Amino acid sequence: MYNISMNKDFCVQCGECCKNIPVDFDTGQMYFDGIQPLTAEFKKMLVPVNKTKNITFCSCKYLVENLCTNPDKPEECVKYPSSPFAFLPLGCGYYGEIFIKSEKIKQKIRKLKEEIIHYELMSSKDKNIQKIINHHQTMIEKYKAYGSDNW
Ligand code: SF4
Ligand code: SF4
Repeated sequence: MYNISMNKDFCVQCGECCKNIPVDFDTGQMYFDGIQPLTAEFKKMLVPVNKTKNITFCSCKYLVENLCTNPDKPEECVKYPSSPFAFLPLGCGYYGEIFIKSEKIKQKIRKLKEEIIHYELMSSKDKNIQKIINHHQTMIEKYKAYGSDNW
């Protein structure tokens, strides 16, 4: 998935991201830094707080007075937020940066869709054009779970 380097200075150390980790225990996925598999290691840290439909919002047992006390933070925490589709709690200092990054990807996907229409009008039988269309569609499919069908 698309990865970006983040400016870590945006963190205001509110600790909210460690109190609101959205998890779907049925599918074994979490929506923390984009959509990620919920590992056994991560699951052990979680304390369910609130549930809406299939999503359980969890807090982390290592969060003490808004600070992380885990001496061996999992990779997911070290990288967060690295995905343009990271789940950010209200007031998170990364909101503007993540918003811009996700908008750039949406624009890229819209452009690919426009190109597909253009290529389809040119010739649907040309093998090279079909290859480009397939490549574009694969890219769009990659972001399907984030809503690319509707961008
Ligand atoms: S919610 Fe955002 S600003 Fe707050 S601690 Fe997490 S990353 Fe930092
Ligand atoms: S290990 Fe630390 S950074 Fe990771 S969720 Fe828990 S408190 Fe937050």
